[in-house]
Amino acid sequence: MTEIHEIESKSILTRSNLPDADFVINPYTEGCEFGCHYCYASFMCRYVGKDISEWGNFVHVKKNAVELLKKHLKHFKSWDSSIFFTSVTDPYQGVEAKYKLTQQLLQVLSDHQYPGLISILTKSSLVTRDINLFHTFKKYRSRHDNYIYR
Ligand code: SF4
Repeated sequence: MTEIHEIESKSILTRSNLPDADFVINPYTEGCEFGCHYCYASFMCRYVGKDISEWGNFVHVKKNAVELLKKHLKHFKSWDSSIFFTSVTDPYQGVEAKYKLTQQLLQVLSDHQYPGLISILTKSSLVTRDINLFHTFKKYRSRHDNYIYR
């Protein structure tokens, strides 16, 4: 049973130092239900007082993510940019079926006609739920297992 912690976050659209993303969006943080043994993000256990053996058993949900993004976009000037979902934990892990934060955040970007590249990195088949939404963007890239959709 996954421990779910709803949190109020201060940020959702964050500048990135990654080579192929100007910004990252992480709707879920400090935890990923997939719990892969090779996950680099498991170091976050120490930030939430967990043992590494508990990786995969908990997730933090940024419950105010959608409101934060709407607020941020009012002052957003970097429309010629790229956004990556996500740099920390999987945006389509199990809790997404309930919270739909990734879907809602993509919808907000779509409503604003975001013209840049949207990249999605996931190992979840739940990503296929949002295919119609992806097609509303001019540019998107989804990495699902070994497949890249352009
Ligand atoms: S799906 Fe990705 S983020 Fe989640 S545990 Fe596995 S490697 Fe880490």
